[in-house]
Amino acid sequence: MNDLSSSLNSLKKRYRDIFHTTVDEIQKRVEEIKPAEISGDIFDTYEKGSAGFNWQKNVLEMFENDISREIFRKWNEILQYRENFNCSGCATCCNLACSEFSPPQLEEKAQKGDKFASQFMSIFIPYNSRGDAEKVYPEYLKMLDDAKETEVYFYHCPKLNECKRCSDYENRPQICRDFPDNPLSILPESCGFYQWKQEVEPVALMLHAMVEIIDYYKQKICI
Ligand code: SF4
Ligand code: SF4
Repeated sequence: MNDLSSSLNSLKKRYRDIFHTTVDEIQKRVEEIKPAEISGDIFDTYEKGSAGFNWQKNVLEMFENDISREIFRKWNEILQYRENFNCSGCATCCNLACSEFSPPQLEEKAQKGDKFASQFMSIFIPYNSRGDAEKVYPEYLKMLDDAKETEVYFYHCPKLNECKRCSDYENRPQICRDFPDNPLSILPESCGFYQWKQEVEPVALMLHAMVEIIDYYKQKICI
């Protein structure tokens, strides 16, 4: 049995390593545009109009104009590369959709205009029991148990027929067509996009780290 808990732990470790390298790289870019006369830190408070203040402004502009665009471009490349792979029809994602929200919570979100919640509820229905969900993908539920993820609700699609085929494939909703749209999602090895995920994961982790780091800078820079 594929041990997803170990895979998840090793993914977290890879992310930590990539995160530290990315912090160093972003810090280097921030230092490269630092005016020579400044001795302080990027997170210090500088007087409006001073060299330090302008440095902070330039750093925020660099995040907006260079780094965010770089992230956007690379993320699009990842999604374009996905076009080289196809769904193998294993039916796992139709048979087991997970959400941190219960059916009433999803209904409430949908009523408030949350489009994803509304589409999700138009496709999936809740499992009657955790045991039924466990039969579909036991490794996944074991991983959730190991991670002590208690607030997870399990759903499935009633359009999946007895031969594990979508009974309305031509008209399947957009979220079915787009799945998986994030290579950091956990996918079964049977998924036709598993290899895509494996190949692009290091770049996706780096982009995720970049987003986290620039968000941190944006919050801490006081101008
Ligand atoms: S609509 Fe079809 S493709 Fe979408 S979840 Fe249901 S069975 Fe799967
Ligand atoms: S898990 Fe992957 S291969 Fe299986 S049905 Fe979903 S998209 Fe297709």
